[in-house]
Amino acid sequence: MFNNLSDRITASLQGLRGHGRLSEADVDKTIREIRRALLDADVAVSVVRSFTGAVRERALGEEVSKALNPAQQVVKIVNDELVTVLGGATGELSFAKNPPTVIMLAGLQGAGKTTLAGKLAKWMKGEGHTPILVAADLQRPNAVNQLQIVGERAGVPVFAPEPGNGVGDPVQVALNGVSTAQFQQHDVVIVDTAGRLGIDEEMMQQARDIRDAVHPDETLFVVDAMIGQDAARVAEAFRDGVGFSGVVLSKLDGDARGGAALSITGVTERPILFASTGEQLGDFERFHPDRMASRILD
Ligand code: GDP
Repeated sequence: MFNNLSDRITASLQGLRGHGRLSEADVDKTIREIRRALLDADVAVSVVRSFTGAVRERALGEEVSKALNPAQQVVKIVNDELVTVLGGATGELSFAKNPPTVIMLAGLQGAGKTTLAGKLAKWMKGEGHTPILVAADLQRPNAVNQLQIVGERAGVPVFAPEPGNGVGDPVQVALNGVSTAQFQQHDVVIVDTAGRLGIDEEMMQQARDIRDAVHPDETLFVVDAMIGQDAARVAEAFRDGVGFSGVVLSKLDGDARGGAALSITGVTERPILFASTGEQLGDFERFHPDRMASRILD
């Protein structure tokens, strides 16, 4: 994904053998290569800076172990630091003590929220939950209909506004959806919300209003991996505008260079919980920082 970052590191330290510490010149040579690879992969500059700083410090401070050659040692350090920036252990959703657990989705229009809502619902159903989807995206003309279609495919009910039942008011729809979930004893409610094509104060205000009305246990920020380092800026805007507890990276099946994952976690320090990897409902997986780190290195 990063054009063989581990090969690039290995090449930059070629010929180096032996033990003891790596020299500063050697470390700087390989750091330059790592920096270039990260920038090529569209990682946000601030994240590249802090990441290479951390790798440099460790590479200079560590004795080269007997078991690894210097290049392997640097690859290992980079791997460890990648896992750390990507959140360490695989993240878990948190569930409410008193069901239903409310999960709100937020993100730009086209990020993949509605598709993700169906995927998440299907996955949760497979885990033994009884989710319901709530169509509170009243911005995009077809969003309600689209959610009804994915709900049907996932075999999960959808609460959608009916004429005279809060139509036009996404906050009321979200509230009614949560009450319906309580009444019908669903243990999870997934609320789809409206995005805009760009960062927009009206969108943020609406998301805040929904958040303040339904008090989500999890707010998941859904972001298109294809936007690369721009994901850092969008993530910061959503973190400051709405706040979120976890991230879903969508469209990881595209030719994304991997910059989005590192940029978002590096900037927001929120875990990526899930990855969306295609248009079908089954194209969905939990996000494992260690696997992503290996993917970046290979
Ligand atoms: P929303 O505006 O955030 O609700 O976004 P949608 O769920 O409508 O998705 C926008 C477009 O991206 C649709 O055409 C989806 O089929 C497509 N899409 C969503 N997730 C993925 C994904 O993981 N991979 C790919 N290739 N396409 C996706």
